Amino acid sequence: MEYYSLNNNSPKVSFQDAVVKGLAPDKGLYFPESITSLDASFFEKIEEYSNNEIAYELIKQFVGNEIPSEKLKEIIADVLQFDFPLVEVEKDVYSLELFHGPTMAFKDVGARFMARCLSYFNQDNTNQVTVLVATSGDTGGAVASGFLGVKGVDVVILYPSGKVSDIQEKQLTTLGQNIRALEVDGVFDDCQAMVKKAFLDTSITNKMQLTSANSINIARWLPQMFYFAFAYKQLKDKSKKLVFSVPSGNYGNICAGMMAQKLGLPIDLFIASTNANKVVPTYLNTGNYEPKPSVQTISNAMDVGDPSNFIRIEKLHNNDFEKLKNNLHSYSFTDDETREAMLHLYNNCNYIADPHGAVGYLGIKKHMKNAVNTQCIFLETAHPIKFLPVIDKTIASKIEMPQQIKSVLGKEKVAKQISQYEELKSFLLG
Ligand SMILES: *Cc1c(COP(=O)(O)O)cnc(C)c1O
Repeated sequence: MEYYSLNNNSPKVSFQDAVVKGLAPDKGLYFPESITSLDASFFEKIEEYSNNEIAYELIKQFVGNEIPSEKLKEIIADVLQFDFPLVEVEKDVYSLELFHGPTMAFKDVGARFMARCLSYFNQDNTNQVTVLVATSGDTGGAVASGFLGVKGVDVVILYPSGKVSDIQEKQLTTLGQNIRALEVDGVFDDCQAMVKKAFLDTSITNKMQLTSANSINIARWLPQMFYFAFAYKQLKDKSKKLVFSVPSGNYGNICAGMMAQKLGLPIDLFIASTNANKVVPTYLNTGNYEPKPSVQTISNAMDVGDPSNFIRIEKLHNNDFEKLKNNLHSYSFTDDETREAMLHLYNNCNYIADPHGAVGYLGIKKHMKNAVNTQCIFLETAHPIKFLPVIDKTIASKIEMPQQIKSVLGKEKVAKQISQYEELKSFLLG
């Protein structure tokens, strides 16, 4: 499979090059040259397939022959070592729990898949790569865990000081080995801007191969298609219209869902549920796309003011605004509404949602007001334990500390503090 840059000003590349480079030389995001739908019978008989088989069918055309099929199946089996349960919380409303992986964030799947692809491409030790990643919370931990000890890959994580939860910070600053953390005096957008600048800085890129493990990287982004199919497989009644509500920040997850839809997964439409960072809902209402500096909320992994994957979503809808509006609805919710939703879910549905999942739930409630014969799934993108201070203040319940989290809490944070791009540069070159 070849990939081209959505800025249309760079040569086409292979899957391997797209994964290793992350971003095209013209700063564009890579996009597959063709997308071939799967046979309808595959989705009709989805219950007969294992998760590993489903994942393989969904991703194989995007990898092509660059990883032999037996090896790709091994990678998938190794990545998907945990469950993706669909839990009914109310009539026709389901939570798809994506937090059962090693860092309890949905990003585990993409990070693990990408790490194993890079490791495969570096088999002969000639392709040492430095993964440079900005995180607003969960990416850092998932990338740190997914890449830990992977041969041929060094990882440098930038995170905004004081703006990730304690558990998130521990997850990305305590592992050691090939993982290093930089604590940036600023917000997520500052971290992302520094990372983008480094990718374009030839005084760095002439000396080392940098790549990104944000969802701009196709190997991080595409495996997220799996979730939507795993959810569909578990639905007992497949006759109703199906709507997914995706708590969105950089819009990688929802865009992967749209890829799954393009492959034939019968999804009626998507809801992008957001916090106060509402570039996309505003755009769908007004037709004006205006990136803004991010504002801080209790669903901090979605504090993104300029979502990097939105351009892929537009491409998937042929840059046709009307077509996009039919397939994508989007609503923004305040922190107060989010807390109320958490409380409602706890009191009335006996379900503890994290703030991101709660935003997803709110999107569904809004949609359901005018929907008939519809069932909705919100993605529960992180375990509530990762947002303990918010949970503690909102609902009167103690959550048991999962083993994955216990094991990092006692470890010592190691991070270098930086405030400017030049410091990042000397860190990388030093
Ligand atoms: C990253 C993240 C999101 C946003 O996902 P995108 O793919 O960036 O839209 C939502 N919730 C949690 C918990 C996350 O970590």
